[in-house]
Amino acid sequence: QVKGEGKNGFAFFDQSSRELLDRRTSLGHGLRHALSRNELEMYYQPQVDTSTHRLVGAEALIRWNHPTRGLVLPREFMPYAEEHELIPAISEWMIDALCCDMQRWSRADNTLKLSLNLSPHYLDRGKIYDKLRSAMLHHDISPNRIEVEITENISKSNPQHAIDQLKRLGQLGVSIAIDDFGIGYSSLAYLHRFPVDTIKIDQSFIKAIVEDDAQYPVVLAIISIARGLGLHLIAEGVESEVQVRYLRAHGCTVMQGHLFHRPMPIDEFIATIGGKAT
Ligand code: C2E
Ligand code: MG
Ligand code: MG
Ligand code: MG
Repeated sequence: QVKGEGKNGFAFFDQSSRELLDRRTSLGHGLRHALSRNELEMYYQPQVDTSTHRLVGAEALIRWNHPTRGLVLPREFMPYAEEHELIPAISEWMIDALCCDMQRWSRADNTLKLSLNLSPHYLDRGKIYDKLRSAMLHHDISPNRIEVEITENISKSNPQHAIDQLKRLGQLGVSIAIDDFGIGYSSLAYLHRFPVDTIKIDQSFIKAIVEDDAQYPVVLAIISIARGLGLHLIAEGVESEVQVRYLRAHGCTVMQGHLFHRPMPIDEFIATIGGKAT
């Protein structure tokens, strides 16, 4: 990030921007090899139905086990993947890894749904339909156990391609969720462009819920949109009992957040579903 600009138009970096840039650059070089060195890993964050106290699904979240830096989160390396055309390779690696993991956990539980994040770049240009379909066939996974999450940033370069891919996935039985709902510019427009099944309330709205007696009209509005359209609803980033009480009181029962579980490696996830309780 460029902080401040000199009088004569020269931009300068402060110390922390410089460090950030160096970090990004060297991370980027390593990312090219991360796939072949097997350094990427999928973590899983359980989704809980608070009305039954059951796990109902899990969101897959990518991690990079960097050889010297330790665990690197996607917000740090995904922008670089985009700049350097690594999105298709990472997305295809991810789909294979997910279906393989899901086949493993199906022995412990074959009802849990898997939710995966699709990069807008891959959706706009890649072969998500073909890739996902063949991975599901290969690993013997029913399409109705998979949900793809998209944000409102799709459809920049090739909207028709993205929409076609989503429609075909929908016809196959895969469900579609709108992630980070409410913070984009076109959330509502999306709801009739392809078959949406689920809305995920953005974390920022959940974070705002801090008092028992207060009103949170944006949350209420989103809940009523989901109810009006007959869509599933998930609250993300739930960290407190106050938030659970408020959401449940207004009819949102499915939740994901640190209060219940953090994202975890596959072995830990399988151990967690073995116990079944939340
Ligand atoms: P997202 O899909 O909205 O994922 C939710 C993020 O919230 C995750 O961050 C998760 O770890 C975090 N989170 C969950 N519960 C809580 C909580 O209670 N409190 C707080 N403060 N945070 C919570 P993460 O894993 O760092 O992922 C960030 C974003 O990176 C994701 O946002 C998603 O857009 C993207 N991403 C993650 N994995 C993948 C992937 O495999 N492929 C693609 N294309 N994007 C991914
Ligand atoms: Mg996180
Ligand atoms: Mg997501
Ligand atoms: Mg989200």
